[in-house]
Amino acid sequence: MKFPICKECLRNDILCDKCARNVGDKLIKIDEIRMYRTLNNVSRKFSLLKDVEVQRAIKGKDIILIIADKENASKIIGKEGGMVERLSKSLGKQIRVVSEMSKLEDFVKEMFYSTHIIGINVIYGEKDQYKVKIPSSEKGRLPIEPDRFAKIVRSIFGVDAEIIFEN
Ligand SMILES: [Zn+2]
Repeated sequence: MKFPICKECLRNDILCDKCARNVGDKLIKIDEIRMYRTLNNVSRKFSLLKDVEVQRAIKGKDIILIIADKENASKIIGKEGGMVERLSKSLGKQIRVVSEMSKLEDFVKEMFYSTHIIGINVIYGEKDQYKVKIPSSEKGRLPIEPDRFAKIVRSIFGVDAEIIFEN
């Protein structure tokens, strides 16, 4: 598999200058880089995944969200979902593969697939602000912590997003 960091950096603990700059620009954090390394190790036994490119890999509590373009996403999913099932088993976590994710709404839908979402409000401005409204009753079982969610959204979409709990 290919990731936003080079082959060397997938093997080493320290990032080379080029990758450090690249992940810095993209606001990719260390937990995501660890996820690349884990996925890289697990995928090595599947030759079909050798040249597959992963854009982002976001780890939630029970799920891993893999973002790739359409062609690569379909390779990761595999015939009748066979490949992603094998990857899931190897990692012991459910994997959701998302392609062509251009809107924040799509990301929210995938990340919070098991959570009831009341709605998403947008306040347009110099920097758009998204408010994702979730019932307070869901608070204890979110797939991702609200502050991590905000960081990842900023990194992928360059906008501010916040989770608001409502009764
Ligand atoms: Zn590197």
